[in-house]
Amino acid sequence: MNRPIPSRPHWLTDQHAMIRDAVRRFAEAQIAPYSEKLWEDEAFPYDIWREAAQLGFTGLPYPETWGGGDGDWLSFVIVLEELARIDCAVANALMANSTVASLLSNYGTPEQKDRFLRPILDGRQIGSIALSEPDAGSDAANLATRATFDGERWTVSGSKTFISNSGTAIGGPVVIAAVTGTRPDGRKEISNFVIPSGAPGFSTGRKLRKIGWRASITHELFFDECAVPADHLLGERGAGLRQTLAQISTGRILIGALALGILQGSLDRSTAYMGTRRAFGRALSEFQALQFKVADMATHAHAARLMLYDAAALKDAGLPFETQASLAKLFASERAMEAAHQAVQIHGGYGVMAEQAVARAFGDAKVLEIVEGTSEIQRMIIARAVLA
Ligand SMILES: Cc1cc2nc3c(=O)[nH]c(=O)nc-3n(C[C@H](O)[C@H](O)[C@H](O)COP(=O)(O)OP(=O)(O)OC[C@H]3O[C@@H](n4cnc5c(N)ncnc54)[C@H](O)[C@@H]3O)c2cc1C
Repeated sequence: MNRPIPSRPHWLTDQHAMIRDAVRRFAEAQIAPYSEKLWEDEAFPYDIWREAAQLGFTGLPYPETWGGGDGDWLSFVIVLEELARIDCAVANALMANSTVASLLSNYGTPEQKDRFLRPILDGRQIGSIALSEPDAGSDAANLATRATFDGERWTVSGSKTFISNSGTAIGGPVVIAAVTGTRPDGRKEISNFVIPSGAPGFSTGRKLRKIGWRASITHELFFDECAVPADHLLGERGAGLRQTLAQISTGRILIGALALGILQGSLDRSTAYMGTRRAFGRALSEFQALQFKVADMATHAHAARLMLYDAAALKDAGLPFETQASLAKLFASERAMEAAHQAVQIHGGYGVMAEQAVARAFGDAKVLEIVEGTSEIQRMIIARAVLA
């Protein structure tokens, strides 16, 4: 996997190139040797998390005041891309933590930031965002979890599922969405709450076994009359869905970065294998049918990179980036699935073996077409934008 740094837009700074080099070295030395074991055990990578935090990756785009790195979003995209090139599940630990950090950073009070944001930026804890429920995924407004207020405390009852980063030994805040009433137009009023690990009535259910993202731990969560003080409401009452939808566009850029990592990793592993494996007395790299597969991967990786970096640069510039985020997420995740599929094909029988990174990336790529809005949901958003 010691491949040259991939093609990059000419306008990237030397600082971005330095970050890429540092993350690449870290991922190849500190993650690659343990990936297969983590996949096998479906285990959270505690040591890697701590080291990534020490290097400043976990809090990179967040304010220094709260323990972040004051970096730009483009740098964070590069971090996730390089981590996912080696192990997409490990990269998702940072990605999911970042979604919580964004909500706390944008809507939290100084007290909430000090108590809940700081430890997930400096790596002492890891955060989860819990929106999805057994009967509410794409249709996120159809939540059944409820929260009632008695003047002093909020009491939450309901369940969540598919929650990344939940159930770890360093579990930090879980930001959950719950129905808190009915709007004048009859729709559900949804609010966000910060639930600390160990809150009474809050429990972790089954660990979910998956075909991809196996080292990204996923659980069901239960709230049985879970009572939290009034100051655990995040932002305004009734603003929950608006907060989550605003944050999810950033999440789409970050999931796109994970997909770009898989695209680049599939390309790098395929070209390396084609150079060494022989059939019919020739290196695989001499067969045009396989050359075309890696040519497509290289084309798609470059296009995905331009789309994602553009979306991140728009966000960094404070310009609207929501449609670009959906375009980039849709393109990158579907092309990553295709590249992962072709990388397995190029590796032949060996490509199906769990010890091969291309086999593990195949499952990881599928998850990316589903989370942070499925491909169908991205197409709905894009169609709405182009038909407006
Ligand atoms: C590994 C993993 C980790 C996750 N981590 C988290 C997490 O940390 N926090 C969290 O809150 N959630 C998380 N999720 C949940 C994820 O966000 C949802 O799975 C996703 O939003 C899709 O919802 P769903 O699974 O209920 O599918 P559904 O919404 O039931 O969709 C099923 C199918 O129907 C399609 N569909 C739905 N509506 C339409 C429509 N209007 N038009 C056309 N097609 C439609 C979908 O595209 C999909 O193909 C995670 C999921 C996975 C698999």
